Amino acid sequence: MELFACLHCDLLQEVPPLAEGESAFCLRCGAKLLNNRPRSFERPLALLCAAAILFVIFNAFPLLTFKKGGLEQTAHVATGIRELARQGMFPLAALVSFTLVFVPALYLLSLLYVLVPASQNRTAPGMFFVFRWVRLLAPWQMAEIFLLGVLVSLNKLSAMARIEPGVALYALAAFLLVTAAAASLLDPQEVWRLWKKPA
Ligand SMILES: [Zn+2]
Repeated sequence: MELFACLHCDLLQEVPPLAEGESAFCLRCGAKLLNNRPRSFERPLALLCAAAILFVIFNAFPLLTFKKGGLEQTAHVATGIRELARQGMFPLAALVSFTLVFVPALYLLSLLYVLVPASQNRTAPGMFFVFRWVRLLAPWQMAEIFLLGVLVSLNKLSAMARIEPGVALYALAAFLLVTAAAASLLDPQEVWRLWKKPA
């Protein structure tokens, strides 16, 4: 028997070992306490690996190409941040690099640090501490706002020059979808279950 607290009504209750595919529900409020899904870390882990590849593409390849007359200019994520800093908008440059590059990179690495051992039913040093922080970090990755900003400016600038979306823009859109899918497939309870009381 394992002791579980319901996340919704806080009732402490004992749960017998579950067979594969079984779920346990709270006795008082009926909320789901835990699942026993076979290999439940594999799909989020595969999606996170895909997200890591998309993140690299998004940072390394051109975001947009501006074409007017004989002139052609390619913009990367890093060029945009550098340009903001060059124009004296340091807080904005810092905010963009924090929410678009730093937080997503830290989020991906931390989740991989937790899920790689978890998928093999093992634990890594400090893994539960990292998992606690990663969940506080999640709201700070705001790549979707950046994507929205790029799409609005694409629309506005299209009257002035020809703008071609680059590989990075598609990678960013895919990155958002893949990370959202990974987060929704991951059941945090299954990570906490691996925690054993220190002897
Ligand atoms: Zn409950």
